[in-house]
Amino acid sequence: MYPNTKLLIDGELRDAENCATYPDISPWNGSEIGHAADGGMEDLQEGIAAARRAFDDTDWPTDHTKRIASLRQYADVLKANRQRFADLARDEVGAPGATVFSAACDAPLGMIDGWLDFAEGYEWEQDIGTAEMFGFKSRRKVWKEAVGVVAAITPWNVPNQINIAKVLPALAAGCTVVLKPAPETPMCGALLGELAVEAGLPAGVLNVVTSADAATIGAALVADPRIDAISFTGSTATGKTIMASASQRVAKVFLELGGKSASIILDDVEDFAKTVAGGAMVCFHAGQGCATITRLLVPRTRHDEAVAILKQAFESIEYGDPSSPMQIMGSLISEQQQQRVLEYIAIGKQEGATLVTGGGIPADKAEGFFVEPTLFANVTNDMRIAREEIFGPVLVVIPYDDDVDAVRIANDSDYGLSGAVHSSNMERALAIARRIRTGTFSINGGMWYAGDAPFGGYKQSGIGRESGAEGFEEYLETKCVAMPEPSPA
Ligand code: NAD
Repeated sequence: MYPNTKLLIDGELRDAENCATYPDISPWNGSEIGHAADGGMEDLQEGIAAARRAFDDTDWPTDHTKRIASLRQYADVLKANRQRFADLARDEVGAPGATVFSAACDAPLGMIDGWLDFAEGYEWEQDIGTAEMFGFKSRRKVWKEAVGVVAAITPWNVPNQINIAKVLPALAAGCTVVLKPAPETPMCGALLGELAVEAGLPAGVLNVVTSADAATIGAALVADPRIDAISFTGSTATGKTIMASASQRVAKVFLELGGKSASIILDDVEDFAKTVAGGAMVCFHAGQGCATITRLLVPRTRHDEAVAILKQAFESIEYGDPSSPMQIMGSLISEQQQQRVLEYIAIGKQEGATLVTGGGIPADKAEGFFVEPTLFANVTNDMRIAREEIFGPVLVVIPYDDDVDAVRIANDSDYGLSGAVHSSNMERALAIARRIRTGTFSINGGMWYAGDAPFGGYKQSGIGRESGAEGFEEYLETKCVAMPEPSPA
């Protein structure tokens, strides 16, 4: 059992009001792995007030050198605790070994130094020269300033990645933060709080309020007038609610939402079998990734061949062993998510798609929240399993007629988060890449995921970008200052 976790409020690790706690459930077998602080409205109010004070009354937003030095200490402590993040990714999130070494743990920890280097070298003030307007000659400067108090609201699928990718850049920009992790993964968030104290981060700059509550605490945080910006990752439905609430006071929102990303395999691809088999990567972390490829578009003439290759690939996936460093698939986060995925599989069957393999709960893993690697063939893009985010190990194979048809199908989605194309002809692949409306795109397996690369979506996949220069600037405001030129002595 893990020790009970605490909230971080105003630099202190404390229990929630009335010492409330709630059980943290292992996705692998439904057992309790420990208890988390169950933060309530009072705790939230105090967290917001502390963040507000740290922003308004200290030099955190303005002393860039001191702040970055403080964050470098924090980064060192975070990295020194790599094993604890990895253990939580496995035990709390259900992340299998192969993901712990990537997005579940090592990748976000590895991104921090780059973000801090970027902040350290950032041009906070730009001179845009003189101009004469209405007979006044003025010198103009553009200042970049921290946006203020940020509400960071995160989901359960890759909490270490998303918590770290919001908290570190926001703090580096000079903001102060109230982090509200998902109810399913409180310990990953609480660890960031605990280590902030160990690293000596100034009181109030980071506050962490974990809670069993799914929506009320988050909604109150978003609606609070002391919050200047909301940085949210999660479902599109919640993103719309947050945007509507924030619009009441025109608060800034950054939204990283769902996806239904398509990979197009062109008929000229060099190794058709190997490329098609890559579709089984939908099972990476049991499909609980917003940018996961969930629609595989194959030439209609080679549909059946592709399905036979995928069937074999899906059926050879070994999964469900938390001690394996190699496996790519663990369990789903919760029974609720398991039921949701099973419902979509039932919908796919009703819609007339061919269930090729999987589709149920594996008989030998009944105590966890597993769903078998599941493959649907003969899918049309109007089916719900092709349009809605399932967030499980479910791939749909959709046949297309030619390049124009493939682009039309890929773009025929409410989402626009990611996508891919495979071809031996780079010109043809680039022509497709230019026509796809998504925030990230991979050509022949190219990897866009990195700390210095902007990540986010078109359409209902979100607004704004995480990581890269664009991600850092989400946490900044722009002020244009003009003074007479030549300046009076
Ligand atoms: P969610 O959107 O309900 O929750 C995400 C976060 O928002 C959690 O911290 C939650 O407590 C908080 N929240 C919920 N309602 C809120 C409100 N009204 N105001 C403010 N905060 C609120 O997502 P979920 O329940 O964790 O998952 C549901 C679905 O979302 C998944 O099945 C999946 O389709 C999608 N999802 C997407 C991503 C992604 O990265 N794009 C990540 C996780 C889940």
